[in-house]
Amino acid sequence: MQNAAERAWRLGCNTFQIFSSSPRQWAPYELSRPQCDEMKRLRDHYDLKPLVIHTNYLINLASTTPLFLKKSVESFRGEVERALALCAEYLVLHPGSFRGADREAGLLQTAAAIAAATQGLDLVKGNLTILIENTAGAQYSLGGSFEQIAEVLDRLRGVVPIAACIDTCHTHVAGYDIVSEAGMRDTLAHLDATVGLKNVRVWHCNDAKAARGSKLDRHQHVGKGSIGREPFRRLLSDSRLAHAAFIAETPIDAPGDDKRNVVVLKTLATKIR
Ligand SMILES: [Zn+2]
Repeated sequence: MQNAAERAWRLGCNTFQIFSSSPRQWAPYELSRPQCDEMKRLRDHYDLKPLVIHTNYLINLASTTPLFLKKSVESFRGEVERALALCAEYLVLHPGSFRGADREAGLLQTAAAIAAATQGLDLVKGNLTILIENTAGAQYSLGGSFEQIAEVLDRLRGVVPIAACIDTCHTHVAGYDIVSEAGMRDTLAHLDATVGLKNVRVWHCNDAKAARGSKLDRHQHVGKGSIGREPFRRLLSDSRLAHAAFIAETPIDAPGDDKRNVVVLKTLATKIR
């Protein structure tokens, strides 16, 4: 856990995202006080902020199966507790799958489950905000449109600190045009009108292996996929997004790929207009 801060710094990052438990297991990781203290010390030392935690992939707060929902709520509460213990600023959550219900009911239930799971935990005092991430929108998955993200945010405003995380790969394969200059302008205007650009606290900067509108969530190295370099340059140099953290979730196919993607993003970010 605490090694992640050291590794982030060595890769040339000034922000980073981690899992606080195994991403594909229910059993929660037992986080010790010394680990949290060491994480905080290293983050202060290297000036790494914000710290973003991604929730595990099993959690589905929109589940229509009572047992699965109960497990998901408990697991998500554990995620929030660990995020607070680690002094993380953001906890990223996928809004879930509405299989067995309809989309609207799924969105309502996800919002209700977030409220239930965080009851009695002081996120405001802990300076922790939950971020709802947009998705590729395949089949039953919630969050394939900005409107769906905005709806979850609207339902939780005043209940728990809530904002959004937008993934470039998910946005592209969900069907939004971020590749052409005019498309990016329109997509950002649409994002602003629904979620609000100021509410997007984290951008996941992933290129895509699949085509726009394909709903296939396969991340690619920045600049080497169907999005290409230019859209990332536009995002990284847009002053309206300067408050946000930019995180790569790109594959590691060969040693050094993580560092190469960080270098590419930093190169593209050099000029702010
Ligand atoms: Zn992502």
